[in-house]
Amino acid sequence: MKKAVVCGAGGFIGSHLVKRLKAEGYRVRGVDLKRPEFDETAADEFRLLDLREPAACEAAVRIDGQPADEVYQLAADMGGMGFIHSAECEIMHNSVLINVHMTNAAANAGVARYFFSSSVCVYRDMKPGEPEMTEAEAVPANPDNEYGWEKLYSERMAQAYGRKFGMAVRIARFQNCYGPYGTWRGGREKAPAALCRKVAEAADGAEVEIWGDGSAVRSYTYVDDMVDGIYRLMHSDLEGAVNIGCPQYVTVRELLETIAEASGKRVRPKPVPGPVGVQSRNFSNERIYSIGWRSQFDLQRGIAATYPWVAAQVAAAAGAPPA
Ligand code: NAD
Repeated sequence: MKKAVVCGAGGFIGSHLVKRLKAEGYRVRGVDLKRPEFDETAADEFRLLDLREPAACEAAVRIDGQPADEVYQLAADMGGMGFIHSAECEIMHNSVLINVHMTNAAANAGVARYFFSSSVCVYRDMKPGEPEMTEAEAVPANPDNEYGWEKLYSERMAQAYGRKFGMAVRIARFQNCYGPYGTWRGGREKAPAALCRKVAEAADGAEVEIWGDGSAVRSYTYVDDMVDGIYRLMHSDLEGAVNIGCPQYVTVRELLETIAEASGKRVRPKPVPGPVGVQSRNFSNERIYSIGWRSQFDLQRGIAATYPWVAAQVAAAAGAPPA
């Protein structure tokens, strides 16, 4: 039985990835600072470790004294735009320490395959209508936030360790990911979960606050598609960074409309000041397409699977103190 370690297994994408690896027949160890908030872990074993510590990373990557066959590194100090713009030092400090020590520990232990979760935040801002950007065009670099710079550095470090130690390194640059069992309140939630929560809390016909004028363009990838991309990429021979994202690009206003449709409510966007991030996104998926991946969930279908879960959390929390 192959042994996999998922770092960040208490988080959103990591907890879904654990389920997929179990379904594929792996023995899975989950590692995180915290257990999953919304569901029992599917991992065979769950270790509470602070991966900013070298000894914790060394303990994480060995199972019964042997290196894990595959390590999936998704742990990060992470959140939506509000968090990314307000916690620059924490992100750069904590996430770079995690990646420095995890990459070093995995390579030195003799781990055969190492996955690193990067982000399309490594790219510069784009104008609507610009041609798709390929992975190579991340350099010369000009990410608009420190989160993107940390990812870019950690990508390069993982690749350097891969070259030196003969470790197969696979790097995905995720587009925005959404789905059930993700953070939906508290300041770290991303736009789809935040807007699902606001719509769930809104009365029919009410206004719903959006940050900025709502014209920023993004694509949103449903978590099952993302996990499928991670799994396929890890078992492919694709070296270097690989974008993973649904090719459906929408404005924030269109995202809100899609959520409103799923809720059955009519809501109106109310622009308020807030951190918007880049204006536009448009990336090539040719590399991930070349290994047979396609997104199966368009935004309508993904939101239809996500909104009821967030609405149920909102209903359950009604009357409870804020998280
Ligand atoms: P998440 O915040 O839900 O999960 C990250 C997990 O890392 C959390 O459970 C957190 O407790 C854990 N963690 C943080 N510091 C740690 C430490 N010191 N030691 C051990 N664990 C620690 O985030 P997510 O959405 O599941 O994202 C997973 C990965 O994908 C991250 O690396 C993120 O940067 C990347 N990514 C996510 C998105 C997205 O839209 N969700 C987009 C691009 C990239």
